[in-house]
Amino acid sequence: MRRATIFSYRCGCCGLCCRDKVIALAPYDVMRMAQAAGLSTGQTIAHFTLRRGSLLRFNRDGSCVALSSGLCSIHRGRPLPCRLYPLGLEWTPEGERFVTLEPAAGSKGVYAEHGTVGSFLDRQGVQPYLDAVQCYRTLLPLMRDRIQALADFEKTEPAEFRRVAVREALAESGYDYNPIIEMMFDSDPWSGFEADGVRSTSRHIARLRQAIQDNRDALEVAAAAVLLAVSLGCTPQEAFARRLR
Ligand code: SF4
Ligand code: SF4
Repeated sequence: MRRATIFSYRCGCCGLCCRDKVIALAPYDVMRMAQAAGLSTGQTIAHFTLRRGSLLRFNRDGSCVALSSGLCSIHRGRPLPCRLYPLGLEWTPEGERFVTLEPAAGSKGVYAEHGTVGSFLDRQGVQPYLDAVQCYRTLLPLMRDRIQALADFEKTEPAEFRRVAVREALAESGYDYNPIIEMMFDSDPWSGFEADGVRSTSRHIARLRQAIQDNRDALEVAAAAVLLAVSLGCTPQEAFARRLR
């Protein structure tokens, strides 16, 4: 589906879609969640997330930790996948593509035949999130170049290097400290705040660029690139130059 495709959905606030999900978070999602919760990004990561800030946390009973009395306690700063629901977003070589997701069983949402995907996205306040995804994606080519410059593929088999980087990036525990990943999600020390109190993505991205350029460990850069790619809705392969995939 494209933005002009006919689509409409009215939420019935049943809270059923806020359960039993795997929801990837991008750095901008964490910033917005922190703003809505009135917490630092570090506190937000500790309270609301798993995998170093890159996954939304769910309770043992399947409910999202942000769900309170059936409503989202951080609604103003809910992450992009929650805003898009019941649409999903895929990135193709031609750009964004939207797909309809399976509705939650018993959902009180109502589909209708008026409106478009574009008008639905506008109502959900999605555009700043999509803009942020595009801005953070500009880091991936830089990371690919840095991996290429640092890794010695005469000594390390590319497939093994990839495997270790993906495992390190996607582990939920037992991973090594990675300064780039720390910076990506716990952005407060690096982003600062604009005059209106909003965290600055441009300052955050500039500091990340510097950290990537200064880093001398190929595996550290590769693990950070994989996690960034996945958090932005790309495949892990986008962390690696085409000849290494
Ligand atoms: S963040 Fe809010 S909207 Fe998203 S799953 Fe959790 S409670 Fe639901
Ligand atoms: S399942 Fe549909 S109706 Fe229920 S809270 Fe989620 S979006 Fe709203």
